[in-house]
Amino acid sequence: MKRATMSAEEALQLLAEGNARFTLGSTEGPHRTPEQRISTARDGQSPFAAIVSCADSRVPLELVFDRGIGDIFGLRVAGNICSRAVIGSLEYAVMHLGTRLAVVLGHTRCGALTALVDGVQVDENVALLAGRIAPAVDRARARFSCLAGPALLEEAIKENVWFQIETLFEASRHIRDAVRGSRVNVIAGVYDIERGAVTWLGNHPDEQSLLR
Ligand SMILES: [Zn+2]
Repeated sequence: MKRATMSAEEALQLLAEGNARFTLGSTEGPHRTPEQRISTARDGQSPFAAIVSCADSRVPLELVFDRGIGDIFGLRVAGNICSRAVIGSLEYAVMHLGTRLAVVLGHTRCGALTALVDGVQVDENVALLAGRIAPAVDRARARFSCLAGPALLEEAIKENVWFQIETLFEASRHIRDAVRGSRVNVIAGVYDIERGAVTWLGNHPDEQSLLR
C-alpha cells in the first residue's frame, strides 16, 4: 500500500534535514534496506519529491539529501534542463505518483554552464543541449555586464534554474494547473559541490504571471 501523500512543506523539510546531515557528515542512510527495496517493488512508488538536477557525478541526489529507495524521483540531465522528456516525466510524478514538491536544482561549477560562459564551441547533440541553456547565460550577461569568469558563472547558474522553471511552466499545462490547485509546489535551489549544502531559492519570483 502506498503511503499517504506528503505535503510540499513536509517534503522540503525532509530534503533540508537530509542535506544538513550530509553536510555535517552525520548521514543516516534511510530506506536503503532489502525490506525497503522489496516493499517498494511490491507496492509501487510514491516519491515525496521530484528533482530536476544535473547529470554531474558530483550531484548524487540520494547522497546529497540522505535518502534512499523510493524517496526521490530524480531527473538528471546535463545543465538540469527542462526538456520535453524531463517535463513529461515530471508530469507523471505529479499526476500519477502524487509527488507534491518539485525542485529544479542547479549546482556550482556546472560544466555545461561553464562551457557556455567560456564560449566553448560544441556541435550536434551537445549543441542542442547548449541551446536550451544559452538564453539563461545571455540573460545573466545582460543583467551583470560588469561580471566575467567565475562571478558570471555563479549568476548564470541561478539564472538557469529560473529559466528552466519558466520553460516548465510554459510547456506544461498540467504542471501549471497543479501549481494553481496547490497540488504541487515548484521551487529552485543551487547545490554547492564543495560545501555539500543546498541554497534554497524558493518559488520563481514571477510565478503568478507565469501561471496565467
Ligand atoms: Zn552540471
